[in-house]
Parts: sequence; structure tokens; C-alpha cells
Amino acid sequence: MSTTPEIRDTVILGSGCAGLTAAIYAARSNLKPLLIEGHEPGGQLSITTLVENFPGWPEGIQGPQLIENMKEQASRFGAEFRMGHLVSVDLSVRPFALNLGSDTVHTRTLIIASGASARWLGLPSEQALIGHGVSSCATCDGFFFMGKEIAVIGGGDSAMEEALFLTRFASKITLIHRREHFRASRIMLERAIAHPSIRFLTNTAVEEVLGLEEREVRGLRLRHVITGEETVLPVSAMFLGIGHIPNAKMFAGQIDLDDDGYIKTHDHVFTRAAGVFACGDVQDRRYRQAITAAGSGCMAALEVEKFLEEHGR
Ligand code: NAP
Repeated sequence: MSTTPEIRDTVILGSGCAGLTAAIYAARSNLKPLLIEGHEPGGQLSITTLVENFPGWPEGIQGPQLIENMKEQASRFGAEFRMGHLVSVDLSVRPFALNLGSDTVHTRTLIIASGASARWLGLPSEQALIGHGVSSCATCDGFFFMGKEIAVIGGGDSAMEEALFLTRFASKITLIHRREHFRASRIMLERAIAHPSIRFLTNTAVEEVLGLEEREVRGLRLRHVITGEETVLPVSAMFLGIGHIPNAKMFAGQIDLDDDGYIKTHDHVFTRAAGVFACGDVQDRRYRQAITAAGSGCMAALEVEKFLEEHGR
């Protein structure tokens, strides 16, 4: 005798600011959302320290606490949480059957809030030394390099922010950027330039992270991209601040992605697939703020509600 599988009204992929806000709204609409937490639960906010620009917290709030509060708020209205990774789904067949490896979850609508993960240089020596002096999270790992000389890679706001944050710990920071010009906003760049512990190396690429034998970063082999000259910079750590990669690869071919892999949405949160909405960093390459992610999460949940009204539950 076969049993009919339970079909949920909505499943939310991702437990960052966007996913949790969608969960709060969907739960308050009595849709009993299931939120799937992936390999970076809580998203970018969970690896931040003080958040000073989220409205309603005049003294600021720690990122992980803000995430915890949102989770509690969503749970209070009936949202359910589980760990998992989406292995595959056919977005042309509704209800959607989400293959989570260990089991399959069926849902009438899907909210993609899977965020974006840190980008790496892709050097074998870098990959081998992750956690041994190579890091993409200054707020997580900066403390381990108290009084040490370190390098920060990148030329955008993330790199400036990381470098400035790391001045709390490191004795000296070398910010290495592959071009002459910076993407960073003027205010962030000026702050970094003005800081006595930060020096800049431009037109410079990292060729190799040294320290494989010792199992800890001992230095970087650098190449000047114009002259080709190679040098060695002794450092104890390398922090990457070279942007993020949206977690949307698994949807390629089924919904539209831009050249960098961000989900292309229209009318804020609609994707090309009916019943599939996207919110937060996975579809926003422009603002990428906690508050904008939360706002788009709210929109996605409201559209799910409308979709279910129109197409039935
Ligand atoms: P981003 O603006 O895209 O900058 C990434 C930087 O990394 C660029 O300078 C890029 O070099 C470099 N880069 C990328 N791939 C590289 C590689 N393989 N090797 C070497 N360098 C590489 O990313 P972001 O700094 O993460 O900022 C993203 C958005 O978040 C921006 O809108 C930013 O304003 C915002 N944000 C704001 C704050 C703040 O206001 N406090 C903090 C963080 C981020 P090229 O310049 O040569 O491409």
C-alpha cells in the first residue's frame, strides 16, 4: 500500500537573514515553513561581530545574537528547522520534490535564500592551509594572530573592513591587491590608508602560500603583475577578502543566473520558475546588507502567500 507524501506549503533554503525573515512571515501566515540550514548556518551575520546599522538596535547587536533572535521569532510562530543540503530538484514539476540525499521533501513553493560563500584564490597551497593560517573570516580567526604580521587580499570594501578589523590583533598588515585601483568605497579606503599598521602592495598577485611542510602559513610568494618580479613576504596568516560566490549552482539551467552566478529575479523576488522565489545575497549583488536581505525575505514570503492563494494549497 503506497502512502501519499506530505506536501508542504513552502520550504526555505538557507538560514541567514533573508531565509529567517521569510520564515517569520510565512510562519505568521500559518504556512508552517520548513527551513533547511546548510553548511553555513546563520549566513554571513553569524560570522560578524557588532552590527550597528540594523534598525532598532541603537547600541548595535552582535551578528550571531541577531540571527538567534530571528530564529526564536520564527520558531515561536511554528517554523521548523532542519540541517540539510539540496542535492537536486526539478523546478518544472510542481509540487517540487527536493532531494536532500537522505530523504525527499515535497513542497508547493520554494524560497531560495542560500546566500553567497567566500571566494578563494584557488591555489593548492591556499586550500591545503585553510584553518592553518589561511582564512576568509577575520572576525572568526583574527584573534589567533595577536602580535603577528599578516596579509589581507583584495581591493574591495570587504578587504578594507577585514584589514581594519585585524589591526586589533596583528602587529602589521599588508593589504595585497592585484590592480592599481580599488573597488572599495572612498571612506573605507581612506580609513585603511590612514591606519599606521596597514601598508599596501598593489599590482601584486599571490602565487603560493608557503608553509606546507610546517602545516602553518610562513609566508607568501608574490609576483608583481607588471614587472613579473617575484618576492617572498613573511607572514603568519593570509585573510581573503575577495568577494563571494552565490550558492545557486544547483539551479543552473532551471532558473536564470547572471555571469557571476547570481540568481536573476524580476519584480524583486520572482524567478523564471513558477512558485520559486529568491531573496537575499543569492540574488543581490548590489546592496548585500542585512536589512535588504531581510526585506527581500519578507517579499518572498508575501509572494508565496499570494501564489498559494492563486494556485491552491
Ligand atoms: P568586491 O567589491 O567584489 O571586491 C572584491 C575584490 O577582490 C576586488 O578588488 C577584486 O579585484 C578582488 N578579487 C576578486 N577575485 C580575486 C582573485 N581571484 N584574486 C585576487 N583578487 C581578487 O567584493 P566585496 O569587497 O566583498 O564587497 C561586495 C559588496 O559588499 C560591495 O558592494 C561592498 O560595498 C559591500 N560591502 C560593504 C561593506 C561596508 O560598507 N562596511 C563591507 C563589506 C562589503 P578587482 O578589483 O581587480 O576585480
